[in-house]
Amino acid sequence: MRDSKGISMISLIVTVICTILLAAMAIGTGSRYIRESRSKDRATFVSVMSNAVAKRHADTVLNSLAYPYLGYYINDSVIFEKIFVPKVSEPIKYENGIWYVLDTATARGLGVKEPEKYIETIDISYPELVKVALVDYATGNVYLIDAYASEMSGLDSVISGPVIGHDHRYVDELNYPNCTEPLKCADCGFILKESLGHKYDADQHPEPASGDEENAHYNRQCIVCGMQGGYEPHDFEYVHLIKNDLWYHKSYCVICEYEKKYGIETEERCTEVIKLSESESERSKNHIRFCRVCGYSVSEGHDIGYRRISESMHEKYCLNELCGHTITREYHVDANNDSKCDLCNSEIVSYSYPQLGIVEMVNANPISEEQKYMAKYGDNISLKIVADKAIRKETLEVIIAGQKVPQDALVTSDNKTWNITFYLNPNVAIPNGNIAFRITCESLSGVELPAPITSPSDGKRVVFDGTAPMIQYIQKVDRVDEKE
Ligand SMILES: [Zn+2]
Ligand SMILES: [Zn+2]
Ligand SMILES: [Zn+2]
Ligand SMILES: [Zn+2]
Ligand SMILES: [Zn+2]
Ligand SMILES: [Zn+2]
Repeated sequence: MRDSKGISMISLIVTVICTILLAAMAIGTGSRYIRESRSKDRATFVSVMSNAVAKRHADTVLNSLAYPYLGYYINDSVIFEKIFVPKVSEPIKYENGIWYVLDTATARGLGVKEPEKYIETIDISYPELVKVALVDYATGNVYLIDAYASEMSGLDSVISGPVIGHDHRYVDELNYPNCTEPLKCADCGFILKESLGHKYDADQHPEPASGDEENAHYNRQCIVCGMQGGYEPHDFEYVHLIKNDLWYHKSYCVICEYEKKYGIETEERCTEVIKLSESESERSKNHIRFCRVCGYSVSEGHDIGYRRISESMHEKYCLNELCGHTITREYHVDANNDSKCDLCNSEIVSYSYPQLGIVEMVNANPISEEQKYMAKYGDNISLKIVADKAIRKETLEVIIAGQKVPQDALVTSDNKTWNITFYLNPNVAIPNGNIAFRITCESLSGVELPAPITSPSDGKRVVFDGTAPMIQYIQKVDRVDEKE
């Protein structure tokens, strides 16, 4: 008995729990059922309202009293934007004469049954939110919204009366809307369809800009209306051409391939100039021909010519008149013994005494090109002498700045070309200004120079400055060393 009583207690508890669970499930299902059916009813109500509104719109005659639009007429786009647009989840747009607010009374007027189940009556003295329908008579769209009655106070409560408005007149519906213009009513400007915007082809190849081909290209064009955009200036590059040995260039845009026009042509003659290389060894062989416009350049050998400069010497130079570079100075040569120079064709007079055709003095260790013809105490001066015939060393006397150059400083390998280095000793006074020199000598057969040589063959003098301190010179050398 005890046992069976215990079993019945357990089964009672299980039964109670099951009952509670089943009840809870039933309640859950029930409330969901009620929620679903209510929203289903609400949708039905909206569709009934929508039919009533659309029917009224179909029946109505503009500006007549027959079948007027009912409701609170929203006659102001500002009120519409401010109060009603925020209450609707989808985008809505104001249009004159079609937007109304309906409450129970006006909904009944349109023939809707039992509207009070879903919307309320507008009573200006009632301060709480009321449910109303916002309707668009033109489309039949109905939106159930919550609003304060006071928000309706600014609206025309047209319960009945003529329907205000006009039928919109759309002109040229075939061509509008287009890329930039909307389709709109020719009378009131109501926009039915917004402009479409340009459509661009992603693969648009840049083309010269119409009307400004010479200066710019565009990289976007609307595939509908042809409107061009994305203008930018051409990025020209030159192409060099050689035709019948003459130089030409043309220029094209690397982006759109537009070819620049020179008048009616697409190419023009180069503007040729000639310049010399920075490098001394290169300068002695070649000049550089280049186009000042396109920058094309080639290095070409000098067009060699010779011209007489003295009884003993001629000059080797470039015949090209844009160049004219003097390459070197040298003694006349007469290999065929006709008393004319084989190279410059000038008369050769035979002299028994030596001709010192080249006598050049420079600073032996210049720290720059301009320092070549400047010197201070402590510097070495170098003097180069080139004679047309051999000189007897014992007869060669060289005096620089009043000091006799010792015999062992007279260096030669053939007795014609002499290289002399002379130290400007700080212990011996040297006057400021051009460094004076004096050269006398005799040929191997003992014929003396008719007069001492005291001026350089290239006309360039080395200027001595005894006031420049030696220390400064040393510092300058240091600074140059640091840089390199
Ligand atoms: Zn219109
Ligand atoms: Zn377009
Ligand atoms: Zn271009
Ligand atoms: Zn050129
Ligand atoms: Zn040249
Ligand atoms: Zn000559």
